[in-house]
Amino acid sequence: MDTGTRPRLPFLDGARRGTARAVATAALVAMTCGASTLVAPSQAARAAPPAGAALNTASGAALDTAAAGALGAAAFAAPGDAAGTAHPRPRPRVDCRHVKCVALTFDDGPGPYTDTLLAYLAAYRARATFFVVGGNVVTYPRVLRRTVAAGHEIGNHTWSHPDLRRLSPAGVRSQLVRTDRVIQAATGVVPRLVRPPYGAFNRTVRRQTARPLVLWSVDTLDWRYRNSATVARRALRWVRPGSVILFHDIHPTTVRAIPRVLRNLAKRGYRFVTVSELFGGHPPRVVFSATPPELP
Ligand SMILES: [Zn+2]
Repeated sequence: MDTGTRPRLPFLDGARRGTARAVATAALVAMTCGASTLVAPSQAARAAPPAGAALNTASGAALDTAAAGALGAAAFAAPGDAAGTAHPRPRPRVDCRHVKCVALTFDDGPGPYTDTLLAYLAAYRARATFFVVGGNVVTYPRVLRRTVAAGHEIGNHTWSHPDLRRLSPAGVRSQLVRTDRVIQAATGVVPRLVRPPYGAFNRTVRRQTARPLVLWSVDTLDWRYRNSATVARRALRWVRPGSVILFHDIHPTTVRAIPRVLRNLAKRGYRFVTVSELFGGHPPRVVFSATPPELP
């Protein structure tokens, strides 16, 4: 579902009233998290001795070649028949208190370009977070299974991408529950994060789920700029340690921008983590960023 023609304007109307408080909460929780453990239980459970390969260290040119080579279908053999058989590749824990972390997030998929994106991310051993639309999960369940198998985090981005503020409480819950069900059926995973479409939420929406509502601190506006260089440039210009960057993997121009983003940020010392990892497994109630938001 290509939703790119709709304007994506975060922090509208009802959301705006809660923004200042939410930002303060996010910043406070980020500081609070700094004093507590930063290893998620799930991450700790799968943590293994470092695989011996440092993260993000290979040269960009080599990795681009590797990523291109990995695009063959064979690289994406499904990890297993049953949803519960996925085994993400172990990697060293990332402590975002002490290293520069960034959470790349991809909305509105899965779609026909998601597998290509997975190859790019794998070339850098980068983890990302995918906020998927239930209707697309039904169309591309195996793509989502491969996404989970590669160690990425899945978030709920509703069934049909409505502005949740216009729905009844029951309507909001239905959007989330239906999507949870198809994600679980495809992968065995129930998402722990929710991203409201357009970043639009209000108190009513917020009350329909106890899960963190994840927004972003850097908007690439990739639905508007269907140009890979522009998308990459916007991400690289506004990124800060702790940023949550918004992309949409339904646009091929966005996916083609990702090798440049990965190469540049890896050189600058960034680690690519999931949203949950960014907060040590405990994201705040509303997430913009682990640092005060950057609003381009
Ligand atoms: Zn969306």
